[in-house]
Amino acid sequence: MPMQHHPAPILDEHWQGYELARDDTFRYVWIWQGSNIRLIALWIDGPDYAYEHGWCYPRDLELVARAVAEWDPDTQDEPMGWHKRPTHPVRQAPRRDENPEYNRPRCEHGSYYQDNGCRVLNCRDVNAYQDRARTAPEGTKA
Ligand SMILES: [Zn+2]
Repeated sequence: MPMQHHPAPILDEHWQGYELARDDTFRYVWIWQGSNIRLIALWIDGPDYAYEHGWCYPRDLELVARAVAEWDPDTQDEPMGWHKRPTHPVRQAPRRDENPEYNRPRCEHGSYYQDNGCRVLNCRDVNAYQDRARTAPEGTKA
C-alpha cells in the first residue's frame, strides 16, 4: 500500500500530536518537542509507547506537512527538511534501490555530508567518514 495522506490531520490522544499519513508499517505523527516539532514513525501493529524513527523540524507546521506530503516512503528512506535525527538506525525504504540519488547517506543533521559536508561543527558522521577515508587502503575508498 502506498502512503495514505489524510485530508485533515488526525488527533492522536496518546501522543498529543497529529497523524498526517500512514503506510503498511508506520503511522507518521508530529508532536511538539521542546523548541522543535518531531515527526515520529509509530508501528501500526506495535507498541504505542515508543516510536521507531524520529526527525526534528523547526516549529513550522507547514514545513512538516509539506515534507510528509512530498515524501515517498516506499522509495525514499527519510523525508526532507529536518535538522536532527534523534533515532537510530536510519530508516531504509523497502524499494530504496530505485532512488539511489535521494538515498545517499545523510548525517544526523540531515546533510548529504559526503558531497556537502555538514553545517554543524564536529559532526560525528562527517568525522567518522573522514576517518574512514584516511585509514581505508587505496582502492577501497567509498
Ligand atoms: Zn551533521
